[in-house]
Amino acid sequence: MKQILYKSTRSDSTPVPASRAILMGLAEDGGLFVPTEFPALDIGLSQLAAMDYRGVAYEVMKLLLTDFTEEELKGCIAKAYSSNFDTEGIVPLRKADGAWYLELFHGPTIAFKDMALQILPHLMITSAKKNREDKEIVILTATSGDTGKAAMAGFADVAGTRIMVFYPKDGVSSIQEKQMVTQKGDNTCVVGIRGNFDDAQSSVKEIFGDEALRAEMAEKGFAFSSANSINIGRLVPQIVYYVFAYTRLLANGTIDEGDKVNFVVPTGNFGNILAAYYAAQMGLPVHRLVCASNSNKVLFDFFTTGTYDKNREFILTSSPSMDILISSNLERLIYHISGNDPEKTAGLMQDLKEKGSYTITEEMKKGLELFRGGYADENETAEAIRRLYEREKYVIDPHTAVAAHVYDRFRNDTGDATPSVIASTASPFKFENSVMQALGEPSDLPDLELADRLSEKAQVAVPEAVNMLRTAPVRHNIVCDRDGMKAEVRRFLGI
Ligand SMILES: *Cc1c(COP(=O)(O)O)cnc(C)c1O
Repeated sequence: MKQILYKSTRSDSTPVPASRAILMGLAEDGGLFVPTEFPALDIGLSQLAAMDYRGVAYEVMKLLLTDFTEEELKGCIAKAYSSNFDTEGIVPLRKADGAWYLELFHGPTIAFKDMALQILPHLMITSAKKNREDKEIVILTATSGDTGKAAMAGFADVAGTRIMVFYPKDGVSSIQEKQMVTQKGDNTCVVGIRGNFDDAQSSVKEIFGDEALRAEMAEKGFAFSSANSINIGRLVPQIVYYVFAYTRLLANGTIDEGDKVNFVVPTGNFGNILAAYYAAQMGLPVHRLVCASNSNKVLFDFFTTGTYDKNREFILTSSPSMDILISSNLERLIYHISGNDPEKTAGLMQDLKEKGSYTITEEMKKGLELFRGGYADENETAEAIRRLYEREKYVIDPHTAVAAHVYDRFRNDTGDATPSVIASTASPFKFENSVMQALGEPSDLPDLELADRLSEKAQVAVPEAVNMLRTAPVRHNIVCDRDGMKAEVRRFLGI
């Protein structure tokens, strides 16, 4: 099998094997790791249609993580995608109102981040072993709610790792806070910060950059790492479910092998939709990749004008995981459409840093052929939730609703009748306030009571991830100021 190596988007530094790239996270020059070439799916799509999720995951991931042995990779996959998901099929595909909803929210934190974060810890410790890195891996994360919990759920009780999460004490929803402070696992630690997300985030960056602390930790047998979404260990597992969705449409007779499909993806950091682009580069038949934004429509403007401009007002929406003005993973797409030109990519990223904007060339625009952009404002998002419920009694969350609206508009404007898959990125129970409001129901109720009402309305059982919050004991109650964060890290590590 062809060896695939990973290199930086910003320079021609020596390519490294996948396990090194997973351990490093970011390249030394600050660029993102990209594969030096795209391997082609080497097994027929109809053969994949006969496999379960784990089978498809192995066939796809083995092509990209070529320095992992079969036993290593299958071991990681078996631990990541099993009874920790609340459905046998891992990612069910449900047809509603002429589109296929790919439910990526059946993992332990009921949002799609689980798809990557359930497997990342296993890929990391396998990578550490392969590289004879014997230090305990310490993950440090600042979170605005979702990612930190998903990362903890992935790393909890994984031997050889510890995870510490900082969240803004008064800046997350009540369900989110409950989810975090009840986190199990002896290797987990959660700390509330008196301050906002930016305070937590910049302090974590400072701690990461503290060379003296790093040296002291190394001496005591610890190494910092990061679980953030630019790690290829998060990107590669996300390619799997696009291939999986295609093969389910084959299996249920919606398409024949070779027919193209559209993917519509609610987008923030551009990781999820980039994985769909990678699937297409590997040979998955794709007609359009529709990038759906909320009112923070930087990406819509980019796809329509060729200019990326983050100089604008930041808008808080009902789809908070997409409230982003710098989509980090877009750098990888920029690199590929520049003809794999690290100098050009580095130049544009420099423009972004200095001016807050950059413009791609006409030549590069041609590389965006597969993509279409669209957006939904707050009213359109709520309307999409209401409409789907009225037509199909199917309840979706606000992130997915952004995509549903954008797909409706795309279908009406273009007449495109290609079978389309909408990435459904969160359970409606995770954003029950906005969902109940959109449905015209009372929403000003205690969170668990609201969950019961939503369950009745949607005719869907309350997910176990929410149910368990009724009785789960609080395990973490530390709150500190920004200045106290480093001391908390020391205390947690016992140094
Ligand atoms: C993270 C997230 C997104 C955005 O995904 P990106 O990979 O950052 O584009 C969309 N919806 C939900 C629910 C998320 O948690």
